[in-house]
Amino acid sequence: MFQSVFDKQVSTRLFRFCRFCEKRPRGCLLGLVYLDRHSSLYCASTSSNMNILWFRRGLRLHDNPALLSALENSKDFIALYVFDTTYQDPEYKPYHMNGFLLECLHDLNESLQNVGTKLHVFQGCPLEVFRYLQTVQTINKLCFIQDCEPIFHERDIAVKNLCSELDIEVYEHVAHTLWDPMDIIASNGGTPPLTYEMFVHVAMSVGDPPKPVADPEWKGVKFLTVEPFETNKFTLFGGVPTLSEVGIPENPVDLRGRRIIGGETNALKHFAIRLQAEETAFRGGFYQPNQARPDLLGPPLSLSAAISVGAISVRLFYWKIHEIFDKVNRGNPPAWLGITGQIIWRDYFYAMSRMNPKFNKELDNPICLQIPWNENEEFFDKWKNGQTGYPFIDAGMRQLNQEGWMHHSVRNAVAMFLTRGDLWLNWDIGAEYMANQLVDSDWSVNSGNWMWVSSSAFERLLDCSVCINSVLYGKRLEPSGDYIRRYVPELANFEFEYIHEPWKAPINVQRTANCIIGKDYPARIVIHEEVLPRNQKWMKEFRQKFKETPAHCQPSSNSEVYKFFCLPDDSLPF
Ligand code: FAD
Ligand code: MG
Repeated sequence: MFQSVFDKQVSTRLFRFCRFCEKRPRGCLLGLVYLDRHSSLYCASTSSNMNILWFRRGLRLHDNPALLSALENSKDFIALYVFDTTYQDPEYKPYHMNGFLLECLHDLNESLQNVGTKLHVFQGCPLEVFRYLQTVQTINKLCFIQDCEPIFHERDIAVKNLCSELDIEVYEHVAHTLWDPMDIIASNGGTPPLTYEMFVHVAMSVGDPPKPVADPEWKGVKFLTVEPFETNKFTLFGGVPTLSEVGIPENPVDLRGRRIIGGETNALKHFAIRLQAEETAFRGGFYQPNQARPDLLGPPLSLSAAISVGAISVRLFYWKIHEIFDKVNRGNPPAWLGITGQIIWRDYFYAMSRMNPKFNKELDNPICLQIPWNENEEFFDKWKNGQTGYPFIDAGMRQLNQEGWMHHSVRNAVAMFLTRGDLWLNWDIGAEYMANQLVDSDWSVNSGNWMWVSSSAFERLLDCSVCINSVLYGKRLEPSGDYIRRYVPELANFEFEYIHEPWKAPINVQRTANCIIGKDYPARIVIHEEVLPRNQKWMKEFRQKFKETPAHCQPSSNSEVYKFFCLPDDSLPF
């Protein structure tokens, strides 16, 4: 058994000894995370006959190495998803994301039905689900894609311990990120690379990310179906449940509705369109089209929600774009990491959060500066509800509430406005709010971006000279004013001259536009021209407390900052 598993290389990497303590698995204290690799060598049982594919993220059939593992050695195959009631934060109810997630599950279910089986959807504690399934039929192996973030460690260690107890092999595959964050950390001497530039160097030394694996071969697979079942520990639904069946409350502000629809099938369709946009960009001499030419009003072509739940493979995204670049340029210059730079930022944030369970908070977060932010409930409420009196900010927040979506540039503007730009409130309350609203809500990516924008980590230490003025930035990003007209209908009748700063409109213009500022649309809650110098002063005072800049608070270069804000390098002020 040992030899055959090893020969097939079904796991991403199999270790005979724990990588960290170099002990055999049973005696290993540190290497529980790698128990899968150990178990696959030691725990095989000949009488076992069920292989489980446990979908967590990685909600796809393409580039799914866990699926390939589960289809191996002619055991009965069962695919399942568990709405986990034990390890989930009860405060975290991302409405749009859960709607998107259910669509992904429906799509998976349909794809599985097409090959002769179904998706089994549970709600409850995964441990109880596996204990139960073991009574239905002996489990041979449990296969899943790695969830590398520390919020999932406790769950996964408990599951691996259970599998060790029940003699179940565990196959955990790295496929949610381009690189295994632990490989990056190990290659960097045991700590995550502190700047993006360092990350890129380390990633390049680790080597190219793996290419997508082959599609599954379904011929001859034996499927196992378990009937709907309910105990006080879990429920097995008859099909894919509704939002209310899994206890997600309806969103009271969902007026317009989400425009980004879930499912692998849909994601792959969108990706084909996206690839055309990439090719057009490469032929036109630029890259990263979604960021280089922001289109705030067009149908969202974004794949971030699908990437976030793994409905599309990040490795497919990376390699297809690289292939197109090479096709267009005939290998000269060859494709380099920068053409998919955004997706590299994602891996960077995953590497930074890998060992940091406080990554989403300011307090006790070792990489986050403890900036003395203000507290102001009223400002925070107005920001959340799109009532700040700044049309571009309000349009963004209302779009977020209604659709669960905002373009990256708008996210930058609203995050800057809440923190060092205008309101001087803590980034982590904004991040928590967005985590609940975004359709692409992602623990590491959301927190990392918020720390970056607020200058709490990653970005040059509190450098307020690069600070967004939402009026200038908004005018630049949407010169028609139609984005504001769509999401802030009170202002729809204003001409472009005033739509980004309606407080400047003379009263007769306001009357003609049917919108009196301070009555029909709020007056500005702060005056940017006054709060910015105040914030700059506070930042300067705070900065003076540091003898030297912390290593993780420096960008690699100015162009990194401009790139992040989707602006050309020469664009100060904005
Ligand atoms: P593309 O330009 O097509 O990028 C391709 C992929 O790269 C994206 O789909 C995404 O997976 C990744 N990516 C893009 N930009 C970034 C970035 N800055 N950091 C890390 N990964 C990136 N993205 C999320 O996926 N989930 C979040 O919760 C999230 N929260 C954010 C919060 C703030 C305050 C900010 C400023 C950004 C946040 N982002 C988040 C990053 C970014 O805004 C979205 O990923 C992007 O808008 C997605 O659009 P796209 O698919 O067209 O991106
Ligand atoms: Mg995208």
